[in-house]
Amino acid sequence: MKNRIKLSKIAKALVNDEFVFFYQPIVSLFTGKICGAESLIRWKGPDGSIIPPDVFIPVAEETSFIAEITQQMLPKVVEDLTALNRIDDSLCVSFNVSAKDFADDEFLDTLFASTSGKLIKRENLCIEITETAFFPSDGSTQKILREIDAQGISIILNDFSAGHTTFSTLTQLPLTAIKVALDVTQRAPLSKMDFRLFRHLVNLAHQLDLDIIAEGVEDEETHSIILATGCTHAQGYYYARPMPLPDFIRLVNKEPAWSEYPFGLEYLAQFDLVDFRRDVIRASLMICAHPEKEIRERILARLPELDSQKCLFGKWLENIRYLNLGDEDYDQLWMEHEEFHNIANSLLNKAWAGESLDEIKNIMVEFSNKSKKMMSLIQDLEIQKLKRYFIL
Ligand code: C2E
Repeated sequence: MKNRIKLSKIAKALVNDEFVFFYQPIVSLFTGKICGAESLIRWKGPDGSIIPPDVFIPVAEETSFIAEITQQMLPKVVEDLTALNRIDDSLCVSFNVSAKDFADDEFLDTLFASTSGKLIKRENLCIEITETAFFPSDGSTQKILREIDAQGISIILNDFSAGHTTFSTLTQLPLTAIKVALDVTQRAPLSKMDFRLFRHLVNLAHQLDLDIIAEGVEDEETHSIILATGCTHAQGYYYARPMPLPDFIRLVNKEPAWSEYPFGLEYLAQFDLVDFRRDVIRASLMICAHPEKEIRERILARLPELDSQKCLFGKWLENIRYLNLGDEDYDQLWMEHEEFHNIANSLLNKAWAGESLDEIKNIMVEFSNKSKKMMSLIQDLEIQKLKRYFIL
């Protein structure tokens, strides 16, 4: 059995400023490029030895030392992020926070003080929390997270599906992304059921308009499989191991890419189209059947985003724009999507205004035809991309 590290050693390391960060790249699966990194603490001994966090973080977490480590490391991560954003102002860095940090009165002050006046966009700093942070479950953590969110700092739920996170947590917290636990990612290629589980987690995140990061991608096969599910981000030894900041900067400057067309995201867009059509048609019919204002308002509140720029499909179109510059099918899809939303709004307005069922039916036919046209355009785009990427 390993010797447990002594607290006095951690205290000495804090005084001697021996904790440093390594950075592990996070890859955007929209672009195949590095879009940020997770900061991972290391203890650099005076002899140059590097001690991993599992040796000292669990011990520190049992005491107030974890709060002291966080206090010391937060300004460092912001300083490193500032250096990274000088190279590319879209790069993000995430920082792990322990449950005990939330009980520390100084945590929020340090967080906000270290980010104020810095040349970074606050959303480029992400706080990674794990479900253990939700104890005690008196709502105090939620309050702190809302304050962090109000300051524009992003929040990632780490190790999702590893423990006891309830699905309802996902709608109760101001999250930007969920990170799938390493073993869930690594099992995805191993069996049909594991693959489906992974795909459903991706779907769940997508429905809630959250990014989803697969942690622990170690090989090309896993990369390709998670890409096919529509997962938005990935991290793991396949792309790169955690490394000191100067190495990470060198890597970013080399602009490595793990490119392949994000087909999975395209399949999700097809589902979004089907869902949107179904939800709008159903809502119009329900509005026709329910003259009561309160019921109608609840029906509208459950509808997906009606603004073409903000709906899931519109966000997908925007995200893949750079991959399709000058592509006529893409431009046409863009126009059809605008019209699709105009028809949806007109359908709902006419239903609300109590137009005749014949009139409503005519617009529904127009709406359905538009959705068929869009589906056909998406699939044409897909075939073009398949040809380009797999040289059919
Ligand atoms: P985590 O936040 O889940 O970090 C991911 C861990 O998975 C890292 O281990 C990383 O090196 C490892 N990893 C990444 N890709 C792969 C892969 O493809 N295969 C395998 N087998 N492993 C991979 P690391 O750096 O040892 O960190 C372990 C844990 O220590 C972290 O888990 C986090 O909970 C904690 N930790 C790290 N830095 C900090 C920190 O600054 N503060 C706090 N409170 N905890 C930290």
